[in-house]
Amino acid sequence: MAFNDNNTAVYIDIGVNLTNSRFNKDRNEVIQCAEEAGVIAQVITGTDAQESIAAYQLTLQNPLLFSTAGCHPHDAKDFIEDDFQTIKSLLKHERVVAVGECGLDFNRNFSPPAIQEAVFRQQIELACAINKPLFLHERDANERMVEILDEYAADLPKAIIHCFTGNLPALESYLERDLYIGITGWVCDERRGVGLSKIIPLIPDDRLMIETDAPYLIPRDLRPKPKSNRNEPRYLPHIAKKIAGCRNQDLEYIAKISYQNALDFFKLDTTNAFQIT
Ligand SMILES: [Zn+2]
Repeated sequence: MAFNDNNTAVYIDIGVNLTNSRFNKDRNEVIQCAEEAGVIAQVITGTDAQESIAAYQLTLQNPLLFSTAGCHPHDAKDFIEDDFQTIKSLLKHERVVAVGECGLDFNRNFSPPAIQEAVFRQQIELACAINKPLFLHERDANERMVEILDEYAADLPKAIIHCFTGNLPALESYLERDLYIGITGWVCDERRGVGLSKIIPLIPDDRLMIETDAPYLIPRDLRPKPKSNRNEPRYLPHIAKKIAGCRNQDLEYIAKISYQNALDFFKLDTTNAFQIT
C-alpha cells in the first residue's frame, strides 16, 4: 500500500507546525523537499484560533496538506468565546481533520492549570459532538489527563497523544484507553530519548503514528549535522528508521503501519492527492 511509483516508502507527518514564522521564507520548498523524501502528506497543527485559520488556509493551496483546529494549553489563558466559535466553524471543513492540539501542560504552566482544564474540556466536548478525533498534548499531566478523558469515555472519539515523551506507566495508561501514540525525533536524543526508546516496542502496530513536530525537536543524531536547527518534515524517514530499530522491525514496515494508521485515524481523503500503487 504505502509505496510510491519508485517503490520507496511513503509517509504522513501527522504533526507539523507549518504556520510557524520560521517557514515564512521557504514554506513551499519545505513541502517540496518533504515530498522528495517520501513525506507525501502532512497534518498541520493548529495551536490557537489564528494559527488554526492559517493552517486551514495552507490546506487549500495543496491537496497534500490537512490541518487541525484547536487551542494549545500554553495559549489557554487567551482563549475567548470568539476563538472557540472560530475553531468550531473551521472544523466543519473536510480538510480540518482533528480537534487540537489541546490538552494539559503542567511542565511550564504558561497558562494556569484550572484554565488549561476548562479550555481542554471545551474542546473534548466539541470533539465528542462532531465526532472528529482529538490531537492531544500532555506534559507532566498524565494523571489529570486520564481522569478527564475518563469522564468523557462514553462519547470520546479516537484520540492521539502527540509527541509522547512519558514513562512506562503513562504509556500503559494511554494504551489501556485505546489511544494512539505519536512519536517524534525526541527518541533520537542520545540522553533524554533513551527511556522512550525502551518502551516504544510496547506500542501495538495499530496504535503507532510518527511526526516531526517541525520546526521544533530536530533529531539530534542527523549526520551530517544540518547547519540550521530548524526541524523539517523531510526528516520524518530518519525518525521512522530510529523507531524501526527500537522495535526491531523493518523501516518499510514502520512506514506502512504508521501510514495506514494516519489514514484511518484522520480519515484522510487522499484520492485526489496522489496515486498509491
Ligand atoms: Zn504539543
